[in-house]
Amino acid sequence: MQRALIIDDDADFRRTFSELLSAFGWQTWQASHGGAGIVLARKLRPEVVFCDLMMPRGNGFQFCRALRADPRLNETRLIVISGHAVPANRKAARGAGADDCLTKPVSLARLRTALQATARLPSAWLRFWGVRGSIPTPGRATVRYGGNTSCVEVRVGDEILILDAGTGIRPLGQALMAEFPRRSLRLTVLLTHTHWDHIQGLPFFAPLYQARHHIRILGSEGARRGLAAILGNQMENPFFPVGLDELPSNVQIEELRDLHFQIGGVRVEACYANHPGVCLGYRLFAGSRSLAFFPDHEPRISRRSGTAKSKDRKLLKFLQGTEVLIMDAQYDCREYRRHRGWGHGCVDDTVALALEAGAQRLFLFHHDPDHDDIQLANLTRHAQSLVAARGAKLRVEAAREGQKIHWAGAAVRRPLRA
Ligand SMILES: [Zn+2]
Ligand SMILES: [Zn+2]
Repeated sequence: MQRALIIDDDADFRRTFSELLSAFGWQTWQASHGGAGIVLARKLRPEVVFCDLMMPRGNGFQFCRALRADPRLNETRLIVISGHAVPANRKAARGAGADDCLTKPVSLARLRTALQATARLPSAWLRFWGVRGSIPTPGRATVRYGGNTSCVEVRVGDEILILDAGTGIRPLGQALMAEFPRRSLRLTVLLTHTHWDHIQGLPFFAPLYQARHHIRILGSEGARRGLAAILGNQMENPFFPVGLDELPSNVQIEELRDLHFQIGGVRVEACYANHPGVCLGYRLFAGSRSLAFFPDHEPRISRRSGTAKSKDRKLLKFLQGTEVLIMDAQYDCREYRRHRGWGHGCVDDTVALALEAGAQRLFLFHHDPDHDDIQLANLTRHAQSLVAARGAKLRVEAAREGQKIHWAGAAVRRPLRA
């Protein structure tokens, strides 16, 4: 049973609100002021705390700050209750660390929404299997960040999604076979586009060679030919010994007609990227949390003012507030001058875009095949210094092969939006 703590100096309100929560199936505790509340919160570690804003012996804002300063209560959702619907209170509550704000009298519908947001989300994580752009780059100079091309595994609960099928999909296939030696897998591969570095690993993806698996491959139609024809071509006789139509598994190739769709419990939205041919980027939602994947994109944004040119304004809206952004940052500024219009970004522009989008975490991606580990570490430091110069909180790092990131579920709290 989920637990809620109610902190309010009004005993009648505590009793009524407690009865209401019990009716929703919650177990409740009560405290009459912030001091007693913080002691109980530390002891119980409840899923949610409801806290009145105006109380004797410490107001709700002070309580919020005390609760948020305690890392053991990081997973507790904090909802303040205000006697007045004042926008300034909502903003101040966010500043103090609250996740949501209710106004007395609390309506049943509003309470239900607040509780639904508190329900535990399935754990969601991602793992980078290929982070390189253009062509694989094995060798001693790339052991830290990796040499395989674009492939990211995403798990949301039991759902397995694969972003791109570059050469990184080969070790991913081996890992899946080791993890599920007998189970019949249902996998969804989301392709951004059909440039080699995003599809070249597909013929070496082990689950394709076992009849019990179901593999759905989604992507946009190619500029000249359909998706199935393009994927089939790279497995034709002069290039590869096994044809796409000879594979024993159940392969389903679908061209996206609708850019908003659902894969099991994962909501997916797609948006066109600025890249030669037809190229998509994806945003995946686990509950209200999201990650965005744009492995190939040339930003159109002013670094100094952060003003996006008209086409990237749409993209900024698409990316707004994403928790994780994985984005093309192939070049440094100097290299970019020689590659303008090639469809790839430079670190400075990608950071500017991530800051404007309000992303919380940026992974530089599609590393240039000519960049070794030392250059990538330097580029990362440069990106971090750009963020620091803006006084922003965005976390930046270069995507690294093998790296696993939790991006939703109990471990991540979502702050209240003003
Ligand atoms: Zn690429
Ligand atoms: Zn490309």
